[in-house]
Amino acid sequence: MIHINAPVRVRFAPSPTGFLHIGGVRTVIFNWLFARHYGGQFILRIEDTDEKRYVAGAAEDILESLRWVGVDWDEGPDIGGPHEPYVQSLRSELGIYQQYVDQLLLRGLAYKSFITSEEIEVMKAAAQERGLKSFRFRSRERDWSADQVAAAEAEGKPYTVRLKVPLSGTTSFHDLVRGGEAINVNNHDLYDIVLLKSSGMPVYHLAHLIDDHLMNITHVIRGEEWVSSTAYHVLLYQALGWDMPIYAHVPNILRQDGRGKLSKRKDDVATNRFWERGYLPEALFNYLALQGWSYDDHTEIMSRDELIERFTIDRVQSSPARWNPDKLKDMNGIYIRQMSADELTERLLPYLSQAGLINATPLPEERAYVRHLVPLIHERLEEMQEAPELLSFFFQPVEYPNPLLLIPKKMDMPGTIATLREAQSRLSELFIWDVPTIEASLRTLVDELGLKAGQLFGTIRVAITGRTVAPPLFETLEALGQDRSLDRMLAAIQTLEEASETM
Ligand code: GLU
Repeated sequence: MIHINAPVRVRFAPSPTGFLHIGGVRTVIFNWLFARHYGGQFILRIEDTDEKRYVAGAAEDILESLRWVGVDWDEGPDIGGPHEPYVQSLRSELGIYQQYVDQLLLRGLAYKSFITSEEIEVMKAAAQERGLKSFRFRSRERDWSADQVAAAEAEGKPYTVRLKVPLSGTTSFHDLVRGGEAINVNNHDLYDIVLLKSSGMPVYHLAHLIDDHLMNITHVIRGEEWVSSTAYHVLLYQALGWDMPIYAHVPNILRQDGRGKLSKRKDDVATNRFWERGYLPEALFNYLALQGWSYDDHTEIMSRDELIERFTIDRVQSSPARWNPDKLKDMNGIYIRQMSADELTERLLPYLSQAGLINATPLPEERAYVRHLVPLIHERLEEMQEAPELLSFFFQPVEYPNPLLLIPKKMDMPGTIATLREAQSRLSELFIWDVPTIEASLRTLVDELGLKAGQLFGTIRVAITGRTVAPPLFETLEALGQDRSLDRMLAAIQTLEEASETM
């Protein structure tokens, strides 16, 4: 059992380089649950020091996606906090990072490097030619005298600042996810990373670390892809003389076929896509909490409060998780079924408006109509975006591109026309239009005509919906209303008559 010293402070520190990937949301959820479980704080920080990869609007999109998922933060770019600002480019402008770089330079733990990227490429190519598998770059200025550095600077050459990584020895850290196991890295296998670019902008390695320190972050819970950089971070903490946070690197999420990581390019994994497709944030949250963490070997459906209560880091696994969109869809269906019909109505209205089936601001009668229709699809809906397609015939006139679909098995065209006429006439005589009355009337007709129920109900289904598969028939007739149902049956009869003339 891992002992966690409260109070904890954790953070999610996205780079605004595009939409929020679903794997990022999983990392957020682990951080958030950890903070809430231990009664600590969850901080949001925007890491935008990579000007080349910066995408305008991405930070706003990330915040909006997080709000939709339902996580909140105690400090962040939009709400501020005691460690403002929470955006690294603003922090850089304030000179927050520079002072630490100056300290490292002064103490000989970092150095100015005037080498150009072209020169590095040449060195890399030469190393490859010599058969070196990996190129561990240590710049020549490591051992330059102050005079040499001053001379190069006087020439006005641009420079980066690099960490002077020890050439020998071992760097170790512990990772909570691997049961607190120690990870040891041979310093010889490292290289002198850039801390400050020639533009004066700090790189991730430096900026995140200074911020984690200044913001009193106790636990760094982040993706497994950072394990290989952690030794540099440890060396930087040592160089700055600061205590390290505790690390927990959470496992990757693999693609469904297990071939490689879930990818921004190849997979449909933008958080706002789940929103568009009609996933409930609570279902997505529940599903993502289980990507690399489990409570036991069988409990899956858990509310947010249950997850907060149950989330401990020792149950985060070190082996990769496997993305399973079908499972997520099933889970969404379960959450949809748990909802009341009133609530589902409200959640479906935007999807129906967007499909043009109802007004953008639904009228009271539209809302009431939708509320009436919801029970017809409530049981089988898995993504809310399916609703417009499932319900469209309730709002739009039906067509019969293939009139033969109206003809039931073992019946012919004239027989179908006669049957539909009779059914239409019977239904037109009903004074009460509800499921029991409609059902009684149609079942009597089945007996009278000596048909199979499936034959009569099948042709009426196609007549009123235009499809062979639709929600339960009597409920559909009731919801559609008597006039509309009768009109559609007449239209079907007419279509069959026209078809029989041309045949
Ligand atoms: N800005 C980094 C990223 O977007 C954060 C990594 C970390 O959590 O340390 O991946």
